[in-house]
Amino acid sequence: MADSASSSSPVILWFRQDLRLNDNPALAAAAATGRPVIALYLLDTAPPAWQMGGASLWWLHHSLSALSAELKRLYGVSLLLRRGDAREILPALVRETGASAVVWNRCYEPAAVARDTALKTMLTADGIAVETCNAALLFEPWQVKTQSGGWFKVYSPFWRACRTLPPPAAPIRAPQKLYGFAGLAPGERLEDWRLLPHKPDWAGGLRATWQPGEAGAAKRLHDFIAQALHGYSDGRDRPDHALTSRLSPHLHFGEIGPRQIWQAVQMAAGQSGAAARHADKFLSEIGWREFSYHLLFHFPDLPERNFRTDFDAFPWQDDATLLRRWQRGQTGYPIVDAGMRELWLTGWMHNRVRMIAASFLVKHLRQHWRHGEAWFWDTLVDADLANNAASWQWVAGSGADAAPYFRIFNPILQGEKFDPQGAYVRRWLPELARLPDKYIHKPWLAPASVLREAGLRLEQDYPQPLVDHDTARKAALAAFAQLRNDDRQTAGAA
Ligand code: FAD
Repeated sequence: MADSASSSSPVILWFRQDLRLNDNPALAAAAATGRPVIALYLLDTAPPAWQMGGASLWWLHHSLSALSAELKRLYGVSLLLRRGDAREILPALVRETGASAVVWNRCYEPAAVARDTALKTMLTADGIAVETCNAALLFEPWQVKTQSGGWFKVYSPFWRACRTLPPPAAPIRAPQKLYGFAGLAPGERLEDWRLLPHKPDWAGGLRATWQPGEAGAAKRLHDFIAQALHGYSDGRDRPDHALTSRLSPHLHFGEIGPRQIWQAVQMAAGQSGAAARHADKFLSEIGWREFSYHLLFHFPDLPERNFRTDFDAFPWQDDATLLRRWQRGQTGYPIVDAGMRELWLTGWMHNRVRMIAASFLVKHLRQHWRHGEAWFWDTLVDADLANNAASWQWVAGSGADAAPYFRIFNPILQGEKFDPQGAYVRRWLPELARLPDKYIHKPWLAPASVLREAGLRLEQDYPQPLVDHDTARKAALAAFAQLRNDDRQTAGAA
């Protein structure tokens, strides 16, 4: 950052989805000026859509609390909290403090891009230096281009193109020194934002599962590399084994950055052999995250509109009861219900089960993918506009490089394949715990004597299947065929 201003005029460091001190280029830029720094977190209440859901707000509270404690401990700097419309609050803070520069790490959600562009124009016009940095991605969405200079709509060539670019820069350490700004009126209190659930306090499971904040993220990465990376490519599809990193909420809130993960994983795995194969597979999943951001940046309607417009005519059913049963984990298909209960209790669900549960909603129940997207948005601690929208559209078949609609997961076979002893199902559906393995994914087929022995009363303790798999599958395929016919007729008429 050019330092033409007086050495006493402060720099505003605006924290957003980068709630960490290490590998935080905006923080490094602010510190490098040697001027007093105002560390700000601004709860932006302005964007009309996609305000954070309940689980995200819970996470945000704890993450801000951790960041604030670390800033104080390492530098004696307080985190200033302000709430309201960023387009008003930030310029007002500049005026109030006489700040001559503002620095932040970029966000890529459409509303954030619009807001930040407007703010940058406004501040620059007032003679304020604005610097923006990349803390969230390995490769900027505009940096990865097809041979004709366009953007990618298919993952594999996208990731291949990324791998031909210069590798991501090495992560940077937290600055040694940061000077606070003395003349600052006290900000708001985190407790007053009431981000945590009160009545009812549903967050007990979240508290038991997660440690939000930079230290929690570093521990997750360390434990994953030490305990699970060596089995990742073979084990990542097994919800009964804890072989994925669970870094997603930490990544979403920027408590850890992808460059840090990239470097740590590569160093641990080396260049060849089995370890390198697992590392490659893991980094390719980070690549899916990059791809989602690439898609959202170039197609900002991704969270709201079908990427493939032929899906606009899909005959969805609109049934609040079916949706509610799915949300509550009451579909009668154990692998789906276990996933939905895991989500409700911990704010997270294993990726394979996300795919099965999502597919069940859009194909077996034929509810619009946007209902599922909205529910995940509210309940996931890793709710992420790019990843959530891209994944829902992938499952629905309406997305870029999506799973074909006609490939319909059989929830019984998926359960038997990926949770063969039913350990995952038993964990989240204790009412089924005593069923033998043979019936754990299809309790309605168990003979009465087996049910009696397992202490299970169907319909009372656990529901009968909400829909019959074969019937639902045929209905979904018929709906899809209707879409294709309509398409052909429209093409014929044109
Ligand atoms: P790991 O297997 O350890 O992967 C490491 C990281 O790579 C993840 O933390 C994540 O950042 C990224 N990643 C992995 N798989 C994917 C993927 N398929 N797409 C994009 N990034 C990926 N992920 C979110 O972060 N937020 C969401 O809101 C979200 N919604 C989803 C909705 C549906 C219907 C589906 C099918 C998937 C969704 N995912 C979402 C993707 C994926 O399920 C999670 O990223 C993953 O389960 C997180 O667990 P992990 O950190 O242990 O993953």
